[in-house]
Amino acid sequence: MSETSPRLRAELDGIPTYRPGKPAASGGPVAYKLSSNENPYPPLPGVMESVTEAAGSFNRYPDMACTGLMSELSERFGVPQSHLATGTGSVGVAQQLLQATSGPGDEVIYAWRSFEAYPIITQISGATSVQVPLTQGEVHDLDAMADAITDRTRLIFVCNPNNPTGTVVRRAELERFLDRVPSDVLVVLDEAYREFIRDVQVPDGVELYRERPNVCVLRTFSKAYGLAGLRVGFAIAHEPVAAALRKTAVPFGVSQLAQVAAVASLRAEDELLGRVGSLVCERTRVVDALRGQGWTVPETQANFVWLRLGERTVDFAAACEQAGVVVRPFPGEGVRVTIGESEANDILVKVAESFRSKL
Ligand SMILES: *Cc1c(COP(=O)(O)O)cnc(C)c1O
Repeated sequence: MSETSPRLRAELDGIPTYRPGKPAASGGPVAYKLSSNENPYPPLPGVMESVTEAAGSFNRYPDMACTGLMSELSERFGVPQSHLATGTGSVGVAQQLLQATSGPGDEVIYAWRSFEAYPIITQISGATSVQVPLTQGEVHDLDAMADAITDRTRLIFVCNPNNPTGTVVRRAELERFLDRVPSDVLVVLDEAYREFIRDVQVPDGVELYRERPNVCVLRTFSKAYGLAGLRVGFAIAHEPVAAALRKTAVPFGVSQLAQVAAVASLRAEDELLGRVGSLVCERTRVVDALRGQGWTVPETQANFVWLRLGERTVDFAAACEQAGVVVRPFPGEGVRVTIGESEANDILVKVAESFRSKL
């Protein structure tokens, strides 16, 4: 009898594996992880306290409706609860959006290079990725993205600011683009780094969503709010879309610890946004230093910087690691470096200087 393995969907063949940022080496003298765009600050004491307290009941399932968090978010953003949906990180919510909109024969448009989860979750859905190259300036080419829309297009991701380049699209160009998108195509504004934006010309997706039923905004607690390990994100969208998200949610996906931490973080927002402010100052310092050394650094509005190193990408990443900082290389393209602790940022600037002097 011949042995056969369980039949798996053909769509899974050749899916690129998600590459998590490399952890910081243990055992070395110093090692900083600047590879996953995490928040370098430890949890706030108050947030820790609520999580510790909630940990006492993890024999119970979480509140499936995320009642406390939903009402907090509803108030914070001025949107009805029926327009909100939570999920296991905003990546989890993005995957639900694909489940809800796209399947074999459908097309999903996004810029490239952009967030590496997009091709993975698109391929899992069975839909076809339509990748539209960034401009020379590493920015979304919204005209080309609009030109790429066909009868098969179901969903378009706009990552603003874009991961891994940090670049943004501004109000006028984004509105012009949205005007060109048919009303039956969902536009997902992925705003994972929203709180790090200082450019006033960048629109708040939540304002755009209000007037446009085909716009969905994705936000996360992973970056500015420092809850990456707890997995909680959310979407703001009009009713049919938000309802579809609730249907596609994994039951009890968002743990009670995550719910409690998210509520506590919203209540401690001033303090958390103060930390974001310090990171933004560090970002300016790093970008200025790198530019001063002669590097071309695209304008970043996120908590990371992008260096297009091409063939030298892997060497640069190795030099960083040797010096004690782990960065995120995209071989053949460039390196993304998270803005972290000042000491870590100092190391990066130093490595960049010595690397440049050897070019
Ligand atoms: C980090 C990130 C997310 C958020 O991921 P979570 O699943 O919420 O941790 C979403 N989109 C982009 C572009 C990101 O960089």
